[in-house]
Amino acid sequence: MKTVSFVFAIFCFNIFFAQSDSISLNKEKVLNGITQGQLPYLKYGPGIDRLGGAKMTYLDTAIVLQIVDSLRDDYIVCLSRNHHAFIPKENVKLCGDNRRNNYCLTSSWGVFGDEKQDYVTIGLDERLPYQSMQLIEPSRIVVDIYGATGNTNWITQLKSAKEIKNVYHEQIEDKVFRVTIELKHTQNWGYSIKYRKKTLVVAINRQPEHLAIRLLKIAIDAGHGGTNSGATGVKTGIEEKYRNLQIAKYLEKEFKRWGAEVYMTRNEDIDLSMIDRTLLLREADPDLLISIHHNASSNPNVRGVSTYYRYIGFKSLSVDVLERLKGLGLYDFGNIGSFNFSLSGPSEYPNCLVEVAFMSNEEDEKLINNPHFQKDVAKKIRQGVNDWIRTARRDH
Ligand SMILES: [Zn+2]
Repeated sequence: MKTVSFVFAIFCFNIFFAQSDSISLNKEKVLNGITQGQLPYLKYGPGIDRLGGAKMTYLDTAIVLQIVDSLRDDYIVCLSRNHHAFIPKENVKLCGDNRRNNYCLTSSWGVFGDEKQDYVTIGLDERLPYQSMQLIEPSRIVVDIYGATGNTNWITQLKSAKEIKNVYHEQIEDKVFRVTIELKHTQNWGYSIKYRKKTLVVAINRQPEHLAIRLLKIAIDAGHGGTNSGATGVKTGIEEKYRNLQIAKYLEKEFKRWGAEVYMTRNEDIDLSMIDRTLLLREADPDLLISIHHNASSNPNVRGVSTYYRYIGFKSLSVDVLERLKGLGLYDFGNIGSFNFSLSGPSEYPNCLVEVAFMSNEEDEKLINNPHFQKDVAKKIRQGVNDWIRTARRDH
């Protein structure tokens, strides 16, 4: 067993060298590491940009990783023979032990629900890394578990699971085990992936039985704050953080007027990191999140409103919100997907980032500074959420 494991590790190592001799590497040996810290995450590669390099997935802690190399502030992780990922060094504790069970097998599964959520639980020999995807038409959650080999002979599906329609698995390549969860409703309401000991737990939110704004908990994030002022108005020099908060407060009022419970990540001009915000939101456990920002471009002619999503299953919310905002006469800058913004990353609740208009464009800036316009933005966002809810309600 040990020998084969070693061969597998070396193979990973060589593949990496063959493909990337153009970048300087520290030649470290293959090591085991475990994930640690707040919100560890995997990246596709070494890219660095203003959004922090393209994230693959957040991970739970204490997950065993095979570290095959390092580059600057990242370790390079072997997920499978032909698949590597990067992880910030601060998110890994090296164990100095390069032995891994040659075959990490899946054992018993559970598919069930309690009064709040549905669950798919998968027993594993070790806490392995994973990545999830959302698919639509029909609505599905796909979880790839890296390093796992199927040894599951049946899946008992209990009636207490109300949102899960079907669950099945396939071994898509050696040591990559794919779990597909079909949902009953068209709208994906979010899910989390965590370990309970060595059991992987996918907890799936159900579509609320009665859908109305007054029955929802809506989170609002006003972007930037404190020393992080964001973009600056081209004419007046106003800082984005103030305009984000202003609109967030109008939106809070608007949703409350319609009876919703509202959670604000900030109510004042304070510093709040992306990790802080993500953890606060996780704690608040909202039904959906609206993030408020204003855009800027080096080209002063670029203008307009845009909305953003990361996962296809949450796209519809951002489309409905954008459609309403376009009613304010703003230029349509578009609906942007696969967006690598930190607060679009959590899969736990549908979320939508609104970039209201461009602070770098004179005409947009005039609107941004007008309180009537700000109130109208709040109203249009609320109407967009209402449209989205109405569509979900038609789907039983
Ligand atoms: Zn911003």
